[in-house]
Amino acid sequence: MKRSFNIIALHCDGKILPETYELFNFVRDMGGETITFIILGSEPHVLMMARELAEKTGTDVICATSKYLENYYAQGYRDVLKGLVSTTDPCFICIPHTASGYDFAPLLAAALNIPCITAIEDIQDSLFIRSMFGGRIRAQARPSAPSAVLTVQPGAWEGSADYSGPGGTVRILPVDIPPGKTVIHGFKKSLSHDVGFCDAEVIVSAGRGIGSEQNVTLIKRLAALFPRSAIGATRAVCDLGWLGYRHQIGITGNTVSPRLYIACGISGAVQHISGMKNSRIIVAINTDRHAAIFRTATYCIVEDIKTFIPLVLEEYSRRSGNPVNGSS
Ligand SMILES: Cc1cc2nc3c(=O)[nH]c(=O)nc-3n(C[C@H](O)[C@H](O)[C@H](O)COP(=O)(O)OP(=O)(O)OC[C@H]3O[C@@H](n4cnc5c(N)ncnc54)[C@H](O)[C@@H]3O)c2cc1C
Repeated sequence: MKRSFNIIALHCDGKILPETYELFNFVRDMGGETITFIILGSEPHVLMMARELAEKTGTDVICATSKYLENYYAQGYRDVLKGLVSTTDPCFICIPHTASGYDFAPLLAAALNIPCITAIEDIQDSLFIRSMFGGRIRAQARPSAPSAVLTVQPGAWEGSADYSGPGGTVRILPVDIPPGKTVIHGFKKSLSHDVGFCDAEVIVSAGRGIGSEQNVTLIKRLAALFPRSAIGATRAVCDLGWLGYRHQIGITGNTVSPRLYIACGISGAVQHISGMKNSRIIVAINTDRHAAIFRTATYCIVEDIKTFIPLVLEEYSRRSGNPVNGSS
Protein backbone atom coordinates (compact mmCIF):
# COMPACT_ATOMS: atom_id res chain seq x y z
CA MET A 1 0.00 0.00 0.00
CA LYS A 2 1.35 3.45 -0.90
CA ARG A 3 2.13 5.62 2.12
CA SER A 4 2.02 9.14 0.75
CA PHE A 5 0.77 11.98 2.88
CA ASN A 6 -0.24 15.59 2.44
CA ILE A 7 -0.05 17.75 5.55
CA ILE A 8 -2.09 20.92 5.39
CA ALA A 9 -0.07 23.56 7.25
CA LEU A 10 -2.17 26.02 9.24
CA HIS A 11 -0.98 29.43 10.37
CA CYS A 12 -2.04 32.51 12.29
CA ASP A 13 -0.56 36.03 12.44
CA GLY A 14 2.17 35.07 9.94
CA LYS A 15 3.34 32.11 12.05
CA ILE A 16 3.01 28.38 11.42
CA LEU A 17 0.82 26.84 14.14
CA PRO A 18 2.72 24.33 16.31
CA GLU A 19 -0.02 21.78 15.48
CA THR A 20 1.42 21.63 11.95
CA TYR A 21 4.73 20.28 13.31
CA GLU A 22 2.79 17.85 15.51
CA LEU A 23 1.27 16.44 12.31
CA PHE A 24 4.74 15.93 10.89
CA ASN A 25 5.53 13.64 13.84
CA PHE A 26 2.12 11.93 13.52
CA VAL A 27 2.85 11.14 9.87
CA ARG A 28 6.35 9.89 10.69
CA ASP A 29 4.80 7.58 13.33
CA MET A 30 2.56 6.21 10.60
CA GLY A 31 5.59 5.42 8.45
CA GLY A 32 4.84 8.08 5.84
CA GLU A 33 7.14 7.49 2.86
CA THR A 34 6.31 10.57 0.81
CA ILE A 35 5.26 13.69 2.66
CA THR A 36 4.25 16.98 1.05
CA PHE A 37 3.18 20.05 2.98
CA ILE A 38 0.55 22.29 1.46
CA ILE A 39 0.20 25.83 2.72
CA LEU A 40 -2.35 28.40 1.56
CA GLY A 41 -2.17 32.13 2.05
CA SER A 42 -1.36 35.48 0.53
CA GLU A 43 2.07 36.84 -0.38
CA PRO A 44 4.52 37.76 1.05
CA HIS A 45 3.92 36.10 4.48
CA VAL A 46 2.94 32.70 3.12
CA LEU A 47 6.20 32.42 1.17
CA MET A 48 8.27 32.97 4.31
CA MET A 49 6.27 30.36 6.19
CA ALA A 50 6.60 27.89 3.30
CA ARG A 51 10.40 28.31 3.36
CA GLU A 52 10.46 27.85 7.13
CA LEU A 53 8.51 24.58 6.80
CA ALA A 54 10.81 23.29 4.06
CA GLU A 55 13.92 24.15 6.11
CA LYS A 56 12.72 22.84 9.46
CA THR A 57 11.46 19.53 8.08
CA GLY A 58 13.51 18.84 4.92
CA THR A 59 10.17 18.27 3.19
CA ASP A 60 8.78 19.66 -0.07
CA VAL A 61 6.14 22.34 0.24
CA ILE A 62 3.43 23.41 -2.18
CA CYS A 63 2.53 27.02 -1.52
CA ALA A 64 -0.80 28.15 -3.00
CA THR A 65 -1.16 31.92 -3.08
CA SER A 66 -4.05 34.26 -3.67
CA LYS A 67 -4.92 37.66 -2.27
CA TYR A 68 -8.24 36.10 -1.24
CA LEU A 69 -6.42 33.62 1.00
CA GLU A 70 -5.10 36.34 3.31
CA ASN A 71 -7.68 35.17 5.86
CA TYR A 72 -8.95 31.63 6.22
CA TYR A 73 -12.26 30.81 4.57
CA ALA A 74 -13.65 27.30 4.30
CA GLN A 75 -14.84 27.26 0.70
CA GLY A 76 -11.54 28.71 -0.53
CA TYR A 77 -9.54 26.06 1.34
CA ARG A 78 -11.84 23.30 0.06
CA ASP A 79 -11.63 24.37 -3.59
CA VAL A 80 -7.88 25.01 -3.69
CA LEU A 81 -7.03 21.81 -1.78
CA LYS A 82 -9.36 19.69 -3.91
CA GLY A 83 -7.41 20.75 -6.98
CA LEU A 84 -3.98 20.35 -5.35
CA VAL A 85 -4.40 16.95 -3.71
CA SER A 86 -5.59 15.43 -6.96
CA THR A 87 -2.14 16.29 -8.42
CA THR A 88 -0.23 14.71 -5.50
CA ASP A 89 -2.57 11.67 -5.12
CA PRO A 90 -2.02 11.18 -1.37
CA CYS A 91 -3.06 8.23 0.72
CA PHE A 92 -3.93 10.50 3.65
CA ILE A 93 -4.60 14.23 3.88
CA CYS A 94 -3.74 15.31 7.42
CA ILE A 95 -5.10 18.46 9.01
CA PRO A 96 -4.71 19.84 12.56
CA HIS A 97 -7.98 19.53 14.54
CA THR A 98 -8.11 23.25 15.22
CA ALA A 99 -11.17 25.48 14.82
CA SER A 100 -10.40 26.06 11.13
CA GLY A 101 -9.06 22.52 10.59
CA TYR A 102 -12.24 20.81 11.68
CA ASP A 103 -14.21 23.42 9.77
CA PHE A 104 -12.90 22.59 6.28
CA ALA A 105 -11.79 18.93 6.71
CA PRO A 106 -15.28 17.40 6.24
CA LEU A 107 -15.97 19.78 3.34
CA LEU A 108 -12.78 18.63 1.62
CA ALA A 109 -13.56 14.94 2.26
CA ALA A 110 -17.05 15.39 0.82
CA ALA A 111 -15.65 17.21 -2.22
CA LEU A 112 -13.15 14.37 -2.83
CA ASN A 113 -15.74 11.70 -1.95
CA ILE A 114 -13.43 10.01 0.58
CA PRO A 115 -13.85 9.21 4.31
CA CYS A 116 -13.02 11.70 7.05
CA ILE A 117 -11.81 10.63 10.51
CA THR A 118 -11.63 13.51 12.96
CA ALA A 119 -9.96 14.26 16.32
CA ILE A 120 -7.40 11.41 16.23
CA GLU A 121 -5.47 11.10 19.52
CA ASP A 122 -3.51 7.91 19.04
CA ILE A 123 -2.72 5.04 16.69
CA GLN A 124 -2.91 1.43 17.87
CA ASP A 125 -2.47 -1.60 15.61
CA SER A 126 -3.03 0.56 12.51
CA LEU A 127 -6.34 1.83 13.94
CA PHE A 128 -7.00 5.49 14.67
CA ILE A 129 -8.12 6.19 18.24
CA ARG A 130 -10.47 9.06 19.07
CA SER A 131 -12.32 10.02 22.25
CA MET A 132 -16.08 10.15 22.45
CA PHE A 133 -18.48 11.30 25.15
CA GLY A 134 -15.99 13.57 26.93
CA GLY A 135 -13.20 11.00 26.91
CA ARG A 136 -15.22 8.18 28.52
CA ILE A 137 -15.08 6.05 25.37
CA ARG A 138 -12.09 5.55 23.11
CA ALA A 139 -13.30 4.64 19.64
CA GLN A 140 -11.18 2.77 17.09
CA ALA A 141 -11.61 3.83 13.47
CA ARG A 142 -10.31 2.62 10.13
CA PRO A 143 -11.10 4.37 6.84
CA SER A 144 -13.28 2.39 4.47
CA ALA A 145 -11.27 3.52 1.42
CA PRO A 146 -7.55 3.67 0.50
CA SER A 147 -7.54 7.47 0.94
CA ALA A 148 -8.96 9.61 3.74
CA VAL A 149 -8.93 13.02 5.32
CA LEU A 150 -7.65 12.86 8.93
CA THR A 151 -7.72 15.53 11.62
CA VAL A 152 -5.37 15.15 14.58
CA GLN A 153 -5.98 16.49 18.09
CA PRO A 154 -3.64 19.32 19.10
CA GLY A 155 -1.17 18.12 21.72
CA ALA A 156 -1.55 14.42 20.93
CA TRP A 157 1.92 14.27 19.26
CA GLU A 158 5.12 16.16 20.09
CA GLY A 159 5.46 19.38 18.13
CA SER A 160 9.18 19.88 17.73
CA ALA A 161 10.85 19.58 14.36
CA ASP A 162 14.26 18.04 15.15
CA TYR A 163 15.48 17.89 11.54
CA SER A 164 18.89 19.37 10.66
CA GLY A 165 19.58 18.17 7.08
CA PRO A 166 19.08 19.95 3.75
CA GLY A 167 15.82 21.86 3.25
CA GLY A 168 12.97 20.74 1.02
CA THR A 169 11.82 22.60 -2.08
CA VAL A 170 9.06 25.19 -2.23
CA ARG A 171 6.72 25.20 -5.24
CA ILE A 172 4.73 28.42 -5.51
CA LEU A 173 1.36 28.11 -7.23
CA PRO A 174 -0.72 31.25 -7.69
CA VAL A 175 -4.37 30.11 -7.67
CA ASP A 176 -7.39 31.70 -9.23
CA ILE A 177 -10.29 31.67 -6.78
CA PRO A 178 -13.21 33.97 -6.14
CA PRO A 179 -13.36 35.95 -2.89
CA GLY A 180 -15.13 34.33 0.06
CA LYS A 181 -18.76 35.21 0.74
CA THR A 182 -17.83 36.58 4.16
CA VAL A 183 -15.74 39.74 4.28
CA ILE A 184 -13.33 39.89 7.23
CA HIS A 185 -12.41 43.39 8.31
CA GLY A 186 -9.71 42.39 10.82
CA PHE A 187 -9.16 40.62 14.10
CA LYS A 188 -8.95 41.97 17.64
CA LYS A 189 -7.16 40.03 20.33
CA SER A 190 -9.03 39.67 23.64
CA LEU A 191 -7.50 41.63 26.49
CA SER A 192 -5.91 39.15 28.84
CA HIS A 193 -5.00 39.91 32.40
CA ASP A 194 -2.59 37.93 34.50
CA VAL A 195 -4.46 35.60 36.81
CA GLY A 196 -1.31 34.65 38.70
CA PHE A 197 -0.52 31.29 37.10
CA CYS A 198 3.22 32.07 37.02
CA ASP A 199 3.48 32.48 40.79
CA ALA A 200 0.86 29.95 41.83
CA GLU A 201 1.98 26.84 43.67
CA VAL A 202 -1.57 25.55 43.70
CA ILE A 203 -4.16 25.84 40.92
CA VAL A 204 -7.77 24.90 41.55
CA SER A 205 -9.60 24.45 38.26
CA ALA A 206 -13.29 24.40 37.48
CA GLY A 207 -14.88 22.17 34.88
CA ARG A 208 -18.45 22.01 33.60
CA GLY A 209 -19.16 19.53 36.41
CA ILE A 210 -19.35 22.40 38.91
CA GLY A 211 -22.87 22.77 37.54
CA SER A 212 -23.41 26.53 37.60
CA GLU A 213 -21.71 29.92 37.73
CA GLN A 214 -22.71 30.24 41.41
CA ASN A 215 -20.50 27.28 42.24
CA VAL A 216 -17.39 29.16 41.06
CA THR A 217 -17.52 30.53 44.62
CA LEU A 218 -16.80 27.02 45.92
CA ILE A 219 -13.70 26.84 43.70
CA LYS A 220 -12.54 30.26 44.93
CA ARG A 221 -13.07 29.28 48.55
CA LEU A 222 -11.11 26.06 48.08
CA ALA A 223 -8.26 27.98 46.37
CA ALA A 224 -8.24 30.52 49.22
CA LEU A 225 -7.04 27.76 51.59
CA PHE A 226 -3.64 27.97 49.85
CA PRO A 227 -1.54 31.16 50.15
CA ARG A 228 -0.14 31.09 46.58
CA SER A 229 -3.04 29.86 44.52
CA ALA A 230 -4.86 30.69 41.29
CA ILE A 231 -8.14 29.72 39.62
CA GLY A 232 -8.09 27.76 36.37
CA ALA A 233 -10.88 26.59 34.10
CA THR A 234 -11.66 24.35 31.17
CA ARG A 235 -12.74 25.82 27.89
CA ALA A 236 -16.28 24.58 28.53
CA VAL A 237 -16.45 26.78 31.63
CA CYS A 238 -15.05 29.79 29.75
CA ASP A 239 -17.43 29.20 26.82
CA LEU A 240 -20.30 29.21 29.32
CA GLY A 241 -19.05 32.55 30.64
CA TRP A 242 -18.63 31.27 34.21
CA LEU A 243 -14.98 32.42 34.19
CA GLY A 244 -13.03 34.61 31.72
CA TYR A 245 -10.88 33.08 28.98
CA ARG A 246 -7.74 34.26 30.76
CA HIS A 247 -8.40 31.39 33.23
CA GLN A 248 -8.48 28.74 30.50
CA ILE A 249 -5.94 25.95 30.75
CA GLY A 250 -5.14 23.72 27.82
CA ILE A 251 -3.94 23.61 24.29
CA THR A 252 -5.75 26.84 23.35
CA GLY A 253 -5.27 28.41 26.78
CA ASN A 254 -2.50 28.53 29.39
CA THR A 255 0.07 25.85 30.07
CA VAL A 256 0.72 25.39 33.79
CA SER A 257 2.85 23.16 36.01
CA PRO A 258 2.08 24.00 39.66
CA ARG A 259 3.04 21.83 42.63
CA LEU A 260 -0.61 20.93 43.13
CA TYR A 261 -3.41 20.96 40.54
CA ILE A 262 -6.95 20.29 41.76
CA ALA A 263 -9.34 19.46 38.90
CA CYS A 264 -12.98 19.91 39.96
CA GLY A 265 -15.64 18.43 37.69
CA ILE A 266 -13.27 18.15 34.72
CA SER A 267 -13.65 15.22 32.31
CA GLY A 268 -10.01 15.16 31.16
CA ALA A 269 -10.21 15.94 27.44
CA VAL A 270 -6.81 15.72 25.76
CA GLN A 271 -6.88 19.46 25.01
CA HIS A 272 -7.16 20.24 28.72
CA ILE A 273 -4.66 17.60 29.84
CA SER A 274 -1.97 18.92 27.54
CA GLY A 275 -2.03 22.23 29.45
CA MET A 276 -1.67 20.79 32.98
CA LYS A 277 -0.16 17.31 32.71
CA ASN A 278 3.22 18.49 34.01
CA SER A 279 1.77 19.53 37.38
CA ARG A 280 3.64 17.75 40.19
CA ILE A 281 0.56 16.38 41.99
CA ILE A 282 -2.85 16.19 40.33
CA VAL A 283 -5.98 15.68 42.41
CA ALA A 284 -9.17 15.06 40.45
CA ILE A 285 -12.68 15.20 41.88
CA ASN A 286 -15.34 13.74 39.63
CA THR A 287 -18.60 11.85 40.12
CA ASP A 288 -17.80 9.53 37.21
CA ARG A 289 -15.28 6.84 38.22
CA HIS A 290 -14.54 6.23 34.51
CA ALA A 291 -13.70 9.90 33.76
CA ALA A 292 -10.58 10.24 31.59
CA ILE A 293 -9.00 12.70 34.08
CA PHE A 294 -8.42 9.77 36.45
CA ARG A 295 -5.91 8.32 33.97
CA THR A 296 -3.70 11.40 34.58
CA ALA A 297 -4.49 12.12 38.25
CA THR A 298 -2.20 11.24 41.16
CA TYR A 299 -5.20 11.09 43.54
CA CYS A 300 -8.69 10.24 42.30
CA ILE A 301 -11.69 11.32 44.36
CA VAL A 302 -15.04 9.97 43.17
CA GLU A 303 -17.32 12.55 44.76
CA ASP A 304 -19.79 15.30 43.92
CA ILE A 305 -17.91 18.60 44.20
CA LYS A 306 -21.03 20.33 45.50
CA THR A 307 -20.97 18.19 48.64
CA PHE A 308 -17.26 17.36 48.80
CA ILE A 309 -15.79 20.89 48.71
CA PRO A 310 -18.10 22.22 51.48
CA LEU A 311 -17.01 19.26 53.64
CA VAL A 312 -13.32 20.07 53.02
CA LEU A 313 -13.93 23.74 53.89
CA GLU A 314 -15.86 22.82 57.01
CA GLU A 315 -13.15 20.42 58.17
CA TYR A 316 -10.47 23.07 57.55
CA SER A 317 -12.41 25.61 59.61
CA ARG A 318 -12.93 23.10 62.42
CA ARG A 319 -9.27 22.13 62.60
CA SER A 320 -7.74 25.59 62.14
CA GLY A 321 -10.37 27.59 63.95
CA ASN A 322 -10.31 30.01 60.98
CA PRO A 323 -13.38 30.78 58.91
CA VAL A 324 -12.87 30.18 55.18
CA ASN A 325 -13.21 33.15 52.87
CA GLY A 326 -12.45 33.67 49.20
CA SER A 327 -15.87 34.35 47.83
CA SER A 328 -14.69 37.43 45.90
C1 LIG B 1 -9.48 22.64 18.95
C2 LIG B 1 -9.93 22.50 20.37
C3 LIG B 1 -9.21 23.13 21.35
C4 LIG B 1 -9.60 22.99 22.68
N1 LIG B 1 -8.88 23.62 23.65
C5 LIG B 1 -9.20 23.40 24.95
C6 LIG B 1 -8.42 23.97 26.00
O1 LIG B 1 -7.43 24.68 25.77
N2 LIG B 1 -8.77 23.72 27.26
C7 LIG B 1 -9.87 22.95 27.59
O2 LIG B 1 -10.14 22.77 28.78
N3 LIG B 1 -10.63 22.42 26.61
C8 LIG B 1 -10.33 22.64 25.30
N4 LIG B 1 -11.12 22.12 24.34
C9 LIG B 1 -12.41 21.49 24.75
C10 LIG B 1 -12.23 20.05 25.22
O3 LIG B 1 -12.29 19.18 24.13
C11 LIG B 1 -13.38 19.66 26.19
O4 LIG B 1 -14.61 19.87 25.56
C12 LIG B 1 -13.36 20.45 27.51
O5 LIG B 1 -12.07 20.43 28.10
C13 LIG B 1 -14.37 19.81 28.44
O6 LIG B 1 -14.49 20.60 29.58
P1 LIG B 1 -15.01 20.02 30.95
O7 LIG B 1 -14.13 18.88 31.40
O8 LIG B 1 -15.21 21.18 31.86
O9 LIG B 1 -16.49 19.51 30.59
P2 LIG B 1 -17.09 18.07 30.36
O10 LIG B 1 -16.33 17.33 29.35
O11 LIG B 1 -18.55 18.27 30.13
O12 LIG B 1 -16.88 17.30 31.76
C14 LIG B 1 -17.57 17.58 32.93
C15 LIG B 1 -17.14 16.54 33.96
O13 LIG B 1 -17.71 16.87 35.22
C16 LIG B 1 -18.11 15.67 35.85
N5 LIG B 1 -19.19 16.04 36.81
C17 LIG B 1 -20.48 16.35 36.54
N6 LIG B 1 -21.10 16.71 37.67
C18 LIG B 1 -20.18 16.64 38.67
C19 LIG B 1 -20.25 16.91 40.06
N7 LIG B 1 -21.36 17.35 40.65
N8 LIG B 1 -19.12 16.73 40.79
C20 LIG B 1 -17.96 16.30 40.21
N9 LIG B 1 -17.87 16.02 38.89
C21 LIG B 1 -18.97 16.20 38.12
C22 LIG B 1 -18.60 14.78 34.73
O14 LIG B 1 -18.53 13.41 35.13
C23 LIG B 1 -17.59 15.12 33.62
O15 LIG B 1 -16.47 14.25 33.67
C24 LIG B 1 -10.75 22.23 23.02
C25 LIG B 1 -11.46 21.59 22.01
C26 LIG B 1 -11.06 21.72 20.70
C27 LIG B 1 -11.83 20.98 19.65
